[in-house]
Amino acid sequence: MRGPGLLFVVSGPSGAGKDTLVDALRSRMPRLRYSVSATTREPRPGERDGEAYFFFDREHFESEVRAAAFLETKEYNGHLYGTPRWFIETTLADGYDVIMKPEVNGALAVKAAFPQAVLVFLLPDKFSHLRLRLAARRTESNDEIAERLAIAHSELKAIRHFDYVIINEQAPPEFQNQPPAVDDLEAIVRAERFRIHHYDDATFRNVENA
Ligand code: 5GP
Repeated sequence: MRGPGLLFVVSGPSGAGKDTLVDALRSRMPRLRYSVSATTREPRPGERDGEAYFFFDREHFESEVRAAAFLETKEYNGHLYGTPRWFIETTLADGYDVIMKPEVNGALAVKAAFPQAVLVFLLPDKFSHLRLRLAARRTESNDEIAERLAIAHSELKAIRHFDYVIINEQAPPEFQNQPPAVDDLEAIVRAERFRIHHYDDATFRNVENA
């Protein structure tokens, strides 16, 4: 019934909980395709190449940039991150919905390239929780955490360019992997799929004539 897939972009400050939220949604909606980004940062424990990211050295990353392989790239905290163009274009064309989670400038760049993209800003319930979450994951130094918090304040300035905002309430420990915000994100995805402009007149005529 539908044409190309929909593109969902979940963004917001580092530490707001994008990874957990998007993972939880993907486990509920297995047909949703995830756009794996490339990065020059080192893998964290447990992160697998091709799943969490494509881990490239700087030279490889830059050769991909020259080959126009990225839809957008961003230097974030001393490392390069980029969204591979080909996966998104072919997956949408095949009719699958795609989800991704770049930082805020990346989200705006994606919207410029795909004006139909649906942009969701994930806010922590309190900015003070960002520091706690970043410290708890023990993967960044204190300097890096301070840098990420400074970036978070500047990212908030772009919130009005987004289509939706979700507030990520701190989940009780037993629900850490299924934060309440996943219901909100699922509601957005489902509602967007029902928008009238995704359906052509032939669809309704077929219903009428059936
Ligand atoms: P992390 O190092 O914590 O995995 O990611 C750092 C930041 O880079 C996060 O805010 C994450 O959303 C963002 N990021 C990850 N992949 C991409 C990408 O392809 N493009 C952009 N612009 N940002 C990305």
